Amino acid sequence: MKCTFVPSICSYCGTGCGVLFETIDGKLISTIPMKSHPVSGGKLCIKGWNLHEHINSPMRLKKPLVKTFGRFINTSWDEAIQITADRFKDIIEKYGPDSIGVLVSAKMSNEENYLAQKLARAVFGTNNVDHCARL
Ligand code: SF4
Repeated sequence: MKCTFVPSICSYCGTGCGVLFETIDGKLISTIPMKSHPVSGGKLCIKGWNLHEHINSPMRLKKPLVKTFGRFINTSWDEAIQITADRFKDIIEKYGPDSIGVLVSAKMSNEENYLAQKLARAVFGTNNVDHCARL
């Protein structure tokens, strides 16, 4: 059994509390407050304590869905990515890059949120990026 503690930042709000994600054999099992973190000093609110819960939730979507005639249909990642890329290209060609906005989520890791804003700025060419933590 291999146990690791991965340092990160809670992404639920702009406070930026420090957390340690505990994994056993590569599976995320708990969130622990980082005592040495300068912002939170070993404290988390209830949302921070439960950061890991959604990752292992049976309700979590694991396959892409495409809305066809008003219904969501399971599809492959390749098809979903192609459809999305084609739609983004069409919209940018027709209305310009600032017609696109990227809204990211506290249910993504800090690192995933960083990559999403990079995609918005470097690929789509827009600064229209926002995050639910700001609301
Ligand atoms: S633990 Fe609570 S206060 Fe701290 S960043 Fe997360 S949501 Fe915000």
